[in-house]
Amino acid sequence: MSVYFARHALLPEGWAKDVRFEVSSSGDLASVTPGCAPDGASFLQGLVLPGMPNVHSHAFQRAFAGRTERAGPSGDSFWTWREAMYEMLETIEPDEFEAIATDAYATMLEAGYTTVCEFHYVHNAPGGAPYARRTELADRIVAAARRTGIGLTLVPVLYRYSDFGAQPPQPRQLRFVLSFDTFAGLWRELYDAYGADAQIALGLSPHSLRAVAVADLPLLVELAGSVPARVPIHMHASEQLREVEACLAVHGTTPIALLAQSVALDARWCLIHCTHATDFERRTIAECGAVAGLCPTTEASLGDGIFPAVQFVRAGGRIAVGTDSNVSIDVSEELRWLEYVQRLASRERNLMHAEGEPFVGTYLYETTARGGAQASGRAIGALAAGRRADLISIACDAGTEPDTALGVALFRSGAWKPEDVIAGGRHVVRDGRHAGLAVEK
Ligand code: ZN
Repeated sequence: MSVYFARHALLPEGWAKDVRFEVSSSGDLASVTPGCAPDGASFLQGLVLPGMPNVHSHAFQRAFAGRTERAGPSGDSFWTWREAMYEMLETIEPDEFEAIATDAYATMLEAGYTTVCEFHYVHNAPGGAPYARRTELADRIVAAARRTGIGLTLVPVLYRYSDFGAQPPQPRQLRFVLSFDTFAGLWRELYDAYGADAQIALGLSPHSLRAVAVADLPLLVELAGSVPARVPIHMHASEQLREVEACLAVHGTTPIALLAQSVALDARWCLIHCTHATDFERRTIAECGAVAGLCPTTEASLGDGIFPAVQFVRAGGRIAVGTDSNVSIDVSEELRWLEYVQRLASRERNLMHAEGEPFVGTYLYETTARGGAQASGRAIGALAAGRRADLISIACDAGTEPDTALGVALFRSGAWKPEDVIAGGRHVVRDGRHAGLAVEK
């Protein structure tokens, strides 16, 4: 059993002093006890926090992060970026796919993310032919997670169409396309292979309402309910106005309203972006207990728009953060942008907080860690006995009180420096560097 000690740790009941963490051989927290002496435990410097869950990643997109910042001849948007992404993907074979994911996951761990929900929709070979083993690329994602130590919620994605009204896929989308039955077979195979692995959870996803048929939705919910585990269900929703308009034109209603008419939404769902959700749709998400998975740096990069997070959380909505395109892998940048876009839209300050929690950094961190744990379907997001041993330590100025120190770490540029990262009990980052990949990176 490993034992760690922290002078200041953020526990579910608030900041605690002199905390001892006992980690079982299975990678869970066996006990968390404040008011102890170090007694030979490994000392974690600074603030100790639960590792942050990253609820939305397309790992392969890390390969071209920052390479699309050149204006095209007739204006750029999410849709022109997507064409560039498709073009880049055309050449990626399994070994490279795994290498990119491995690098992305090591970087996530160095940033303080200890779980990633990988929204996995690349199932086929370049050109669209199936691999001899249909789990080929899903297995590569698992291999990258195992090698780096990051907790993984693998979210295989059903993708069938290019747009609302069952439009046929474009040639470049053929790497994503599976029939419903093939997808269900793939999903069951992955469940059988990884369902008992403590490092891995399995989710499931309709890519978006433009990429599946409405009739697929109850079938996917049934598939998720066909196993004993609680299976989170993720979906892209209302990221772009064009998507909302196309949905209105074909179905006479907006995407999340259509989803809510088609299935009984509940706390298993994580809707990614929700940028252009209507008031009614945001209320629907909040009331059913689903999580809004926000990806502030990608949403800014792609010019999506601003989700009214302040109103949403004040109405009881649950939020989490994801790195999505992986143009940025930095917990502090994600949380800072989440707050800053609200400030820019309202011309006010210190918006993301709650009664009893006036510190914006602490509120953002606790809220997104909790929402992220729910969306990942794993026992994470809090430093408590029985949860996975996902701990990060953040350097801070000596003598600064913890709420202020966490605010500095998140809002002062360059101050977010995870020194030690322990994921599922594995001490994978020391002195800020991922242990296994330090030489290769
Ligand atoms: Zn996405």
